[in-house]
Amino acid sequence: MKFAIIGGGVAAFEAATAIRERDPEAEIVLYSKENVPPYRRPALSGMIAEPMPDTRFYLKPATFYDENKITLRLGVTVESIDRAGKSLQLSNGERAAYDRLLLATGSHCFLPPVPGMELPCVLSLREFADLEEIRRRIDSGVRRVAVIGGGILGLELAESLLARNCHVTVIENSPVLLPRNLDAETAQTVSAMLGKIDRLTLRFGESVQSITPGAASGNWRLQLPGGDIEAELILVSAGTRVNLEVASQSGLACGRGIKVDAFCRTADPAVSAAGDCAEIDGSVYGLYNAAKTMGRTAGINLAGGAEPFVLNAYPARLVVFGIKIFSAGTLSGRAEIDGDPAAENFQKRFYSEDGRLAGCILIGDMKPATALLAQLEGK
Ligand SMILES: Cc1cc2nc3c(=O)[nH]c(=O)nc-3n(C[C@H](O)[C@H](O)[C@H](O)COP(=O)(O)OP(=O)(O)OC[C@H]3O[C@@H](n4cnc5c(N)ncnc54)[C@H](O)[C@@H]3O)c2cc1C
Repeated sequence: MKFAIIGGGVAAFEAATAIRERDPEAEIVLYSKENVPPYRRPALSGMIAEPMPDTRFYLKPATFYDENKITLRLGVTVESIDRAGKSLQLSNGERAAYDRLLLATGSHCFLPPVPGMELPCVLSLREFADLEEIRRRIDSGVRRVAVIGGGILGLELAESLLARNCHVTVIENSPVLLPRNLDAETAQTVSAMLGKIDRLTLRFGESVQSITPGAASGNWRLQLPGGDIEAELILVSAGTRVNLEVASQSGLACGRGIKVDAFCRTADPAVSAAGDCAEIDGSVYGLYNAAKTMGRTAGINLAGGAEPFVLNAYPARLVVFGIKIFSAGTLSGRAEIDGDPAAENFQKRFYSEDGRLAGCILIGDMKPATALLAQLEGK
């Protein structure tokens, strides 16, 4: 049996490993357009500041793939799928046959449709090659950086850039930071904490209108309603969109992601999808642990199993500028606070109308996280 996996992220890796565990004889080929083996993608933002040892960055050493007879085809993009003929068209001109196929194509950074977004001063961080380019720019002397997007990734970028001696302006179009992970009140508290940080400027409730050449050579002007700013480099962290092209061109049903059932199967019995690119019950997760679990589920099922993907609360965990933040569940409704927001150490719990815990935020002390998560998941 020939298994082909499109993608080189954690979902692809987990699927390949799960297939091998169930089927020692299968031929498993993983096609990735990146030039490096599967790695921990969330580590990329911190690596702007400081590279990580290979042993921590890569999911497994190169020898693992040889030992487990998993063929890595790196630097190879799958351009199209012929589902009737069960073959793939590769970017190097080859065609490759498969019996079972997994799409684990992940997502890419969304660039808001603003004049100037196509300029070479605008970058985003999704893949290893993006990291190398950002590091190259900073190494060559770039010091004034604008980050578009004040979510988790935007703040992680800001922290790494400050560690490289940059001046950073974070521009968030919501009225508060971390709009997806905090309620408005907690976001204000966290913003006040971050407002004290040297060389960091926060701009809320504003969207960039255009990017044009700035006054000095090498500078770019970001037009903002509250007053323009100039930067040498602009990093965009304004959400993601699923890599759907090969799936939709091959006629697979797609919404925001590739539509799959709870077993990660598409309507084509030979084709599954997992990770950021998959849409289950209308949800696209965009989270590392969800992609990991989904990849494993898809691999087991492609190799003959029947395990459903189990939905979890998938909390957000973040440490920025030394502030530990945890949030999970629904962050609205009746709330109770324990601890002291002024001391940067508190817990906020949200309850549904029937009195059950619906969501929570922890700032500072993370010890209650496990118990609260279990309560949220009804365990
Ligand atoms: C900087 C950064 C920080 C993050 N931090 C967190 C975090 O703290 N917590 C969290 O939960 N999540 C985080 N995420 C999101 C998390 O990394 C993703 O949810 C996860 O990587 C998704 O895994 P995946 O395998 O589905 O897809 P991806 O990791 O996106 O991998 C998809 C791979 O497929 C390749 N590919 C796509 N199309 C083709 C094709 N046609 N042919 C060949 N190859 C193809 C891509 O090049 C890529 O290598 C972060 C992401 C980034 C970029």
